[in-house]
Formats: sequence, structure tokens, C-alpha cells
Amino acid sequence: MISVYPDTDEMISLFPLFAEIIIPLALPKNYTWRIPQHLKDKAKTGCRVEVTLGKNKKYAGIIKRLHKSKPVAFEPKDILNVLDAEPIVFEQQMRLWEWIAQYYMCSEGEVMAAALPSYFKLSSETILICNEEYGDDFSDLDNDEYVVAEALHIKKELRLTEVQHLLDSSHIYPVIKRLIEKKVCFVWEALKDSYNVKKETYVILNPVYEDENTLAGLMNNWGRAARQLELLLSYLHLIKTEGEVTKAALLKKAGASDAQLKGLVEKDILWLEKRAVDRLRYLPLHINVDFSLTAAQQEAYEKLNALFAEKQVCLLHGITSSGKTQIYIKTIEQYVRRDKQVLYLLPEIALTSQIIRRLQKHFGGYIGIYHSKFSQNERIEIWNKIKSGELKIILGARSSLFLPFTNLGLIVVDEEHDASFKQHDPAPRYNARDSAVYYAGLFEAKILLGSATPSVESYFNALQGKYGLVELNERYGGMDLPGIKIIDTKQIVRKDKSKIILSPQLKEAIEKALEKDRQVILFQNRRGYSPYQICAACGWIPQCRHCDVSLTYHKLSNKLVCHYCGTVYPNVTACAACGSYTFVQRNFGTEKIEEHLEEVFPKARIARMDIDSVRGKHAHDGLIQLFEQKRIDILVGTQMVVKGLDFEHVGIVGILDADSVLSFADFRVNERAFQLMEQVSGRAGRKNEKGSVLIQVANTRHPVLHFVQQHDYAAFFRYETEGRERFFYPPYSRIILITFRHKIKERASEAAQYFAMELQKELGKYMVGPAEPPVNRVRNQYLMELLLKIPKDTILLNRCKAILKDQIGLLHQNKKFRSVVIIPNADPL
Ligand code: ADP
Ligand code: ZN
Ligand code: ZN
Repeated sequence: MISVYPDTDEMISLFPLFAEIIIPLALPKNYTWRIPQHLKDKAKTGCRVEVTLGKNKKYAGIIKRLHKSKPVAFEPKDILNVLDAEPIVFEQQMRLWEWIAQYYMCSEGEVMAAALPSYFKLSSETILICNEEYGDDFSDLDNDEYVVAEALHIKKELRLTEVQHLLDSSHIYPVIKRLIEKKVCFVWEALKDSYNVKKETYVILNPVYEDENTLAGLMNNWGRAARQLELLLSYLHLIKTEGEVTKAALLKKAGASDAQLKGLVEKDILWLEKRAVDRLRYLPLHINVDFSLTAAQQEAYEKLNALFAEKQVCLLHGITSSGKTQIYIKTIEQYVRRDKQVLYLLPEIALTSQIIRRLQKHFGGYIGIYHSKFSQNERIEIWNKIKSGELKIILGARSSLFLPFTNLGLIVVDEEHDASFKQHDPAPRYNARDSAVYYAGLFEAKILLGSATPSVESYFNALQGKYGLVELNERYGGMDLPGIKIIDTKQIVRKDKSKIILSPQLKEAIEKALEKDRQVILFQNRRGYSPYQICAACGWIPQCRHCDVSLTYHKLSNKLVCHYCGTVYPNVTACAACGSYTFVQRNFGTEKIEEHLEEVFPKARIARMDIDSVRGKHAHDGLIQLFEQKRIDILVGTQMVVKGLDFEHVGIVGILDADSVLSFADFRVNERAFQLMEQVSGRAGRKNEKGSVLIQVANTRHPVLHFVQQHDYAAFFRYETEGRERFFYPPYSRIILITFRHKIKERASEAAQYFAMELQKELGKYMVGPAEPPVNRVRNQYLMELLLKIPKDTILLNRCKAILKDQIGLLHQNKKFRSVVIIPNADPL
């Protein structure tokens, strides 16, 4: 039969061919290029192509779609080259990018920039690339270098104009030059692919000697070179035990020299061969899930399986130490045995060797780890092994959602309530948990959310029947949850009115725990020594020059530090306002607690865990291991001590200043406070003995304290959702926050007012503000915020987003507001 329509391939060959290409930039939309005849067969969707944009700037973009409709408004340029023989991204990934761009209001190019390892993102503009190998210990850098290095560390790459902006000066080249010399970053100028395969020299026996008789003949007639014979024997031993012998390993084992090896090579007995090796060491490929679940766990596991038959997403709400991880492991096993891929998402900070070891024990080399501390080379290796299907399980932080899975069966989101699944800055401001739900849908994969303190949104979805819900209310080993004691700090009067660090009750409890050889964890959500100091005479407080925040005193470095922009100042001795020399320190951070503990418990081994103390690549993990091995008695720290750690010997957990957790100006304050306190409490009394938690607080009647004391999540949820419903906050609405940023205060404020006015007619009923946020200036930029609370209706939500996008474009056409930065953020946290 003759078809009226030529088939697609034929169509394409009959007409000029065009491509919609994603460029890793914040462009308003994807643009179109023409595919010249000679590249026609090479250009496939998902491949990178080299194109020019604007005045000869070159980029590597990704072909999203091939088509034959010539753009009407302009004459498309030709693509210059196709860079990949095979697609580097799959259709599902591109659909995820498209969804994220639409939902979180950014460009697909911005998503691409976040999703691809740097190696795939080429550009002929001068761009500074963060050298991940350098780590994040910036103590050797001067102020200017530090500012750039920190920005690079966060954004991974910077344009020269951005550097100029950061340093506020025209002399940026010397700073950049020093940073390159110090290997903090590289410059990326020309199109180049800098993924170097690491090679290693292997030693191979000439195959003629694989015959035992020939080998024996050789050795029996050996001449004078006795050391060479020894070397050969070492080789034969190694190859038997190791299977493969590298030159380095052989020389080391035999204590031999290069010259001796060369002798054997010249005699054609051994051969040398350079081979690519994997940078990452892989364990044997085995699956060995060798434990059994307890009755309660088994019941939860079976319920989960039953629910998955009908629901795409299930929430496992299990109290701390109930064995959620064990249930994940059993579930993962099912999928891997069916040859499906599994993504296990964790907050970055919780990705410690503890959880890695636990999973490797069961899944060996099938598991790959992916997080920001890895070098670009390591990341690209993981990328390729996921793409080829060699790796079955990825344990990673939020960005591992972008890996090229081919056969995804399950996504586990552990600690699903954690705010760090949401990327705050820069765009895409996506939440990996919520994006995972969309992504899994494309594969018909399942999602398992797990937490001891689920987010209000997820629990709400579960109660509504949108997600399956499984609850596990029993700790492994039958341990009780810790008892919680509230200590009223108002009752403890201090002469200088400063806050109490250790109440007598807490001090006594710690003493007793130490006597019994139990460990102690103390939590405070402020780092540094003193969050602010006040002039005793006039009340002046040292402030950051670039931000509207008070400076934190760090005693170890004797510096004042801005925790918003990172600027470091010398300590002040005299008041800038009145010249007085006396300052009072009103509050305390982890550094001061550590110092105080050293005075009170001189014999105890004390350590501090916060981002100041764990700057290096392995410092965080190192501290955890020391604590696990009981080489630390008291660990004081910030949020870091909260995340998913499993310690055996903790007798006491102290929350030193709960008021600071309960008093944030944000509608999520109660949720955060409950999660934080319940999670820290969960570190107490695992395995052997019931632990106890002491909470120091002035506002003892805060309802959240009551729910924590009862460990009653459900009651907390009821209380919290009542308030949320009344004020129309999520989960009853969706919110979009729009931030306006400008170095002139009035300009930021006028832009926000003008924008709100334009929006008034259509969206007025959803708007709150505009208003200044509590900290209204950061890095010399003044901030204004406008909040939209939108009913949960996808069509309406999409319409709002479209209107917002248009209005942002229109505002930027207004000359006056062109330089105002406008940042939309959907579902901000
Ligand atoms: P959660 O993830 O809910 O906090 P975990 O899975 O970390 O709980 O379990 C807490 C501790 O109890 C871990 O050390 C774990 O190895 C142990 N555990 C839990 N369930 C079992 C089980 N069925 N068999 C052996 N050990 C278990
Ligand atoms: Zn003063
Ligand atoms: Zn600052």
C-alpha cells in the first residue's frame, strides 16, 4: 500500500531541518538553529552541538527537538558541529528539565546548567570554573580572593562580569590570577573537553609463559640477574592473588627499581600496557541482604508493598531508630533483583560514610555515590556508569536526580522533610523531592518518602489519600523514645542578664552520663562565639558593611564574621559610636559552648561540629567516626548533629536555647522547630538504654514543646494544619515568593510597588506585600518581597506563573527598572 504521507525520516530528508536547542543560559526561550546538510545524519536529540549566539559567542547546547518549521521572524544560523556521537541526555531527562523550568519559573538552560557535569557545558566566553579538588578550606585566601572563592564554591562557575560585581572594583585580574595560581579555579576559554581518563601502567606476562613448562624452563635456566628473578616471582604471586598487577603495586611489593623491571621488559618476559582505570574503586557486584525484619517492620514492609500496587508515592512515617533504613534496603533489593535502577536521595550533609557503609554492605559495587564533594572527573564516571546501566543504585544528594537513568524503578527520599532538598540559589530553585515525583512518573517508577517527622505537605497528601501511608511506631530493640524534660531558663537569674549556657539541671545530667560512660550531644543553632556583642555604654552593635545584620564574633580567629555574605572583619575593641571599651555578649554560639564545657568538664573529650569546624573534605565524616568510636564524650553542634545519624551510646541530648528555634518569622517556624527538636532527641538512647533530652527554654508554654515532649507527631500535625488553613498557607495553598533586588533601596522598593500594582487587577486577591524581609540588605543589595498564596488548582497556578513571567518581562522593559533583579521562587522554604 502506498502511504499518502511520507514517513518521518523521509520528510526530514526532504525539507531543510531545524533544531530547537537548549543553551545553558537564562534565555527567555529555546532558540532554533538550522542543521546543515553535512551534519544531518549526526544531529540527534540529546546530542550536544556547537553553536554561536549573539556576537560570535560559542556554546555547546543540547538538541531538544528536530523539526522542519522554519522560524518566521528571523533567519536561523547553522549549527557548527555535532559534539557527541550518541545522545548524552535522554528524553525523560529533557522532560524533567522542561517541567522544572516551567514549575520553578526559570529557563531550561538554567536547569541544564545545574543538571550536567561541567564537562558537558562548554562556552567560549571566559568563565571561571571552581576547582572542586581544592575543597572549601579558604583559610589561605585574602579577603578579595575569599569572596570570589566562596561565590565560586556555591555557583561552581562565574563570568568575569559577575566577578567584577562581587569585588566592586575594576582591578579584578590580579585577584583572578592569584586564584588560578592557587588552583582555586580554572579559566575556561576555548571549547575543550577536559575530561581526562586516568591511565595506569599495568604489567602483563608474555603469553608464551602462561604455559607452565615454558615458564619452568625459563626459570630453571635463569642467568645472573637474581633480583630480576625475585621481581618475576613477586609478579607471579601478585597476579595470582590480585588478578591484575599495576607497575606501581609491583615495584612496591617487590621493593624493586624501575631498572630491574625494565630488564625483564627488554627480555620480553613482561610487557607494560597503559590502560584507563576507573577513578572510583568499585566493590564486588553482589547483593546480600542478610538480615530479617522485626515483626513490626515486616508488617510495615508488607503494607508498603500492598500500597505500591495502587499508589505511585508512599510515605513511611517511622519514629527515629525504628528501622526505616532497613525497610528501604529490603525495598531496594526487590527492584535491583528485577534489574531496575534505584535512586536513594539524602540531604547532602547526611551523606556520611555511615550510611554509605550500610548500603555497600548489602549492595557492594552496584551502588554509586554522587555528591558535591566529588571532583568533576568522578562525577562524569558515575554519569557514564548510570547511563550504561552498570550502576544500579545511586546514593546521592539532590542533584543526583539529574543523572541519566535508563531504567528507573524506585526513588527513595530519605529525611523527606529536609529543607535542603530545595535549591535556594541560584536557579533552578527546584525541590528534588517534588521533582522526583514528576520524574518517577515518566518511568512509572515508585517513590518512597521516609521520615520520623514528615513535612506537613507530605503527611497532608498521605491523609488525603494522594500518597500511601505506612506508620512504624516502635523503635528497633523495643527501646522507648527518650524522656523529655523542659528546663525553664526564666527561673535561673544571672547577674549580667546574659543567656544561660548550662543550667544546673543539664550540668548534673551531663556529669551523671559521663560517669556512666555515656555520650552527650548538645545542640545550638548558632555557630561562632557570640552572635552579637553590644556596647555596654550606648547599645551600639557591630554590623556588616554589606548586609543589614549584626556580626558574629569568632574567638578562635578573633574576627567578626558576617554569616550572610561571609565578609570577615577585625574584632572591634572600642565602640564606633561612643568610644567605650566594654562590650557585653548577649548570646552564645557553638564556639562559646565548647569553651564553657572545657572549663566545666576539664576531663571530658569535647568536640564541635559546625561548618567552621568541618571545612575540609573529610572533616565532617571524621568527627562522626570519632564519636562512633567513643573517642569523643561531648559533641556540641549545629543542625549538622541532627541529620540521620545512628549512635549507640548517647545518654543525654541537650537543646541549649530552644527559644531561638521557636522564634523565626516564618510560617514554617513550628514545623521546623518540631522537626529539629524531635530529630535531635532521636539521637538519644538508641539500642542499649533509654536516653533523655533536656530542653532549655524561656517560653515554656510554646505548644510545640508540648508535642515534642509527647513525641506526638499526629497531634502536632493537627495543631499546625489548623493554623495553616486559617491563614491559607500550604498545604492549603501554594506559594510563590518574588524577590526584588537592587543596590539602591528606593529602586528595589519602587519596582516592587509598581509590579504589585500591575498585578493587582488579576492576582490582587492572592497577594501579600510587597514588604521588606527581616534582613533587607545582603551583599549591598536591598531586598523587597512579594508573596502570592494561590489556591491549589494547577490551571490557575500555571496561569499565575504565566502572568508573572510576562510582568517580569514588562518590568524589565521599563528603563528605570531594567537593572532590578527579580527572582520568582515557587514553593520557597
Ligand atoms: P531509622 O532509619 O528509622 O532511624 P535504622 O534503620 O537506622 O532506623 O535502625 C536503627 C538501628 O537499628 C540501626 O543500627 C539498625 O542497624 C538497627 N536495626 C533496625 N532494624 C533492624 C533489623 N531488622 N535487624 C538488625 N538491625 C536492625
Ligand atoms: Zn558605645
Ligand atoms: Zn554581610
